Amino acid sequence: MTNTARHELVVLGGGPAGYVAAIRAAQLGIDVACIDENPRFGGTCLRVGCIPSKALLESSHVYEEAQHRMRDHGVKVSGVELELDVMMSRKEKIVDALTGGIDMLFKKGGVTAYRGRGKLHGAESIEIAPVEGADPDQPKIIEADQILLCPGSIPARLPSIEEDGDRIGNSTTALSFPEVPEILVVIGGGYIGLELGSVWNRLGSRVIVLEALDRVLPGLDNEMANLAHRAFKKQGIEFRTSTLVSSARVDTTQSKPCTIEIQGGEPIYCDRVLLATGRWPATDDLGLAAAGVQTDRRGFIEVNENFQTSVPGVYAIGDCIGGAMLAHKAMEEGIVCVERMAGIAAEMNYDVIPAVVYTHPEIAMVGQTEEQLKEAGIAYKKGVCPLGANGRARTLGDIDGRVKILADEETDRVLGVHIIGPRAGDLIAEAAAAMEFGASSEEIARTCHAHPTLSEAVHEAALAVDDRAIHTA
Ligand code: FAD
Repeated sequence: MTNTARHELVVLGGGPAGYVAAIRAAQLGIDVACIDENPRFGGTCLRVGCIPSKALLESSHVYEEAQHRMRDHGVKVSGVELELDVMMSRKEKIVDALTGGIDMLFKKGGVTAYRGRGKLHGAESIEIAPVEGADPDQPKIIEADQILLCPGSIPARLPSIEEDGDRIGNSTTALSFPEVPEILVVIGGGYIGLELGSVWNRLGSRVIVLEALDRVLPGLDNEMANLAHRAFKKQGIEFRTSTLVSSARVDTTQSKPCTIEIQGGEPIYCDRVLLATGRWPATDDLGLAAAGVQTDRRGFIEVNENFQTSVPGVYAIGDCIGGAMLAHKAMEEGIVCVERMAGIAAEMNYDVIPAVVYTHPEIAMVGQTEEQLKEAGIAYKKGVCPLGANGRARTLGDIDGRVKILADEETDRVLGVHIIGPRAGDLIAEAAAAMEFGASSEEIARTCHAHPTLSEAVHEAALAVDDRAIHTA
């Protein structure tokens, strides 16, 4: 094998942005290669993000249902026990199946896969530093007509938090604790902290969430965040908002292995610490500056509307360019970016990107919050359906929640939809589709929804926008 290979397009990073872009490029007849330093393609999302966290959320939910809720259905269960190792290996099997699936898709689709750490080598090639397990005959330099950078993101660090990758760690650490910590402190009340905090709370930990802001889940509609906050408190999660952590360290001289110092408060001693204060672009050491690729002061790669960087022929998408750091946004950018390279007039609509928090209750939103509409001075109408009025929610025994639709006062166009309750993440798809097609609340209200389904709550909220809800007084 020669030391150099050439492709029309080389994609650096095989996460949701990179692997989707590579598959779509191959479909369009582009000769494409994808490089990842990890032996498994799929990126953060499949390996240590969306998928393993949802596997643990499902398993811990089943454990909690068996303990506390099956009785409500007349199902008496006794001797419920947790087998954490089985739960963890189930999670790993799901990750293996999905990451292995990408290898298969690459093979079938004609995407060439390279393993190793890639770095820009000028503006027209990537140099690959081999990693363990990589094919020793693999080329070291990949030249390409076009380069697509998708290195993703890594957990943010704080200098005062002394992570040891075990007792004090990040989301990846918290996906594989070897035992249920007696006390877990989560630093950061965003969706990653609350999802993983929920997992360990359900499995028996005392979970304390420390948040610098005066609210949790920043970015969500206030009303929904407040309802969620209340529900989590009822589940036993403790919250200390407006709380600044000054340090966290392992200290074996104390009653618990970890010590957290709080500004103006008593220290907290706990078994484990999860630092969940956001994510940074993984753009260090990619050779960006040498190649002339510009980044902003936080390290996000700057791109234009075609995802082109400051260097012609070099593109970037996904978490590394900022915006909503979500897998489906990254995948969508992957498709739009390579379709545009192929001359297809594809568009990315950043106004309609749903966001979901997979806690219980689940929370989902698309479009604008009430606070954003007020701030922008946009007059809006609001329709709400509490889930207590929904037959399917009653049969599920899961009536804590609501659907809220915000529509333009004048045109009735749907501007935002916010859902809290069972399967909110699935229900939001209807709202996203409606908004993508510029639907009015009247059009949702005129659409026949199957009975009895949770989606009827979306229908009912749309009716409520014009004060004609049938099932809510
Ligand atoms: P990544 O998935 O980070 O992929 C980047 C890839 O590039 C990685 O495989 C990395 O190994 C590789 N790479 C980086 N640098 C190099 C290099 N120099 N050479 C070779 N390879 C390199 N999003 C959702 O939409 N829904 C969720 O439910 C959700 N849950 C999450 C839960 C957790 C705990 C976390 C941490 C994240 C979650 N996310 C979720 C976010 C989601 O994982 C990311 O938005 C998504 O993975 C971004 O995709 P990406 O392709 O841009 O980057």
